[in-house]
Amino acid sequence: MKPKTIIEPFKIKSVEPIRFTTREEREKLLKDAGYNPFMLYADDVLIDLLTDSGTSAMSAKQWAGIMEGDESYAGSKSFYKFESAVNKITHMKHIIPTHQGRAAEKILFSVVGGPGKYFPNNTHFDTTRANIEFTGAEANDLLTEIGKQPEKRADFKGNMDIEKLEAFINEKGFENIPLCMITVTNNSGGGQPVSMQNIREAKEVCKKYNIPLFLDACRFAENAYFIKLREKGYQDKSVLEIAQEMFSYADGATMSAKKDALVNIGGFLALNDDELAMKCRNLLIVTEGFPTYGGLAGRDLEAVAQGLEEVVDEHYLEYRIKSVEYLGNKIVEGGVPIIEPPGGHAIYIDAKRLLPNVPPEQYPGQSIVCELYLEGGIRAVEIGSVMFGKYDDNGKLIPAMMELVRMAIPRRVYTQSHIDYLIEIILEVFNTREKLKGYKITYEAPMLRHFTARFEPLK
Ligand SMILES: *Cc1c(COP(=O)(O)O)cnc(C)c1O
Repeated sequence: MKPKTIIEPFKIKSVEPIRFTTREEREKLLKDAGYNPFMLYADDVLIDLLTDSGTSAMSAKQWAGIMEGDESYAGSKSFYKFESAVNKITHMKHIIPTHQGRAAEKILFSVVGGPGKYFPNNTHFDTTRANIEFTGAEANDLLTEIGKQPEKRADFKGNMDIEKLEAFINEKGFENIPLCMITVTNNSGGGQPVSMQNIREAKEVCKKYNIPLFLDACRFAENAYFIKLREKGYQDKSVLEIAQEMFSYADGATMSAKKDALVNIGGFLALNDDELAMKCRNLLIVTEGFPTYGGLAGRDLEAVAQGLEEVVDEHYLEYRIKSVEYLGNKIVEGGVPIIEPPGGHAIYIDAKRLLPNVPPEQYPGQSIVCELYLEGGIRAVEIGSVMFGKYDDNGKLIPAMMELVRMAIPRRVYTQSHIDYLIEIILEVFNTREKLKGYKITYEAPMLRHFTARFEPLK
């Protein structure tokens, strides 16, 4: 028999205490932080769900790799280990290390971007969009319609709309589209996966117009596992084989190793085109470092190489995907509205439906984020009108499309009982939602205001 209980597929050798605070203490701490959890000291947080980026727990073998790191400036042994680990999954010819995903994006789009250029994607992640727009080019989202409906369940809500892609290419002209991207899983769209069929169809369209297809591969292993679970014909394939097939349709990839390489820093750019690789390497040398370390230490390359081995382990992925799903399903059973179905790396509470009496101008997502901290020391993040709201000429708020609260789950960091605790706190916040008030902004920076804004609760 296959046991029903899914356990953490690891033992814990080294522990990091988390600090308990009382509700009274948290009330003061949150007030001092201007009711913005970004401004809290991490040490005052019990369970930190701000991001899954760079927050993974490394394995004993990764830490051993840290000691093995070869810090030679050129030709480091650790680089070749890293290169071969990335190559095993992507089969790409040129592997260029960078210090983060956005550094890979910066280099790629500096070379291929510029005014008059267009870059379609299922949904661009904010750093990708920013790096494209910084060159004067346009970043375009062509997400499938079902992906825009938070309350609807479907298997692959991260898919690209293939018909729209072809129409887009015809409208803008293939010569103005240096590459097309697909983000797996679709981070900005709730961590929803993309099907193999969709990647294959996108490739066919791109090939017809001679446009290279790139993967934003940050969560390639989580995406591959969803394909194994949900797409016909993949049940008996290994996650590594599925990942290899995903990359076989791509001509290049950018990756933040802070996600599915299970490390705290790192990234890479993978390419097949020799000339493009040469241009990117030249820029890498100016901005990141020599091509065999690219902004990282030799020890970091070791940790990435080992992390890429571990992340395709199916016991790990089962624990990962199922514990996020468990959290999502339990709070849905309790009545909490979320983006359905639960994604790979995070649960997104739909604040608009949870707090219908708090209008967007009073930031319902921020209100829930604050209450999660006050009630249980949990740090989540608002993804709504605080983050994406704009003002019209009269200073009136133009709200974001959705008001969400994201709870991103760090990899291998929390156990089942942490998740059960989260469920209890979230349900308590939900059941006492009548008392939740809106907030007003008392200070904001002209750009990226969500990081440093200060708030006050409304009476
Ligand atoms: C995190 C992320 C990036 C950027 O990577 P950094 O390492 O944070 O620079 C790009 N795309 C997606 C989908 C991401 O999740």
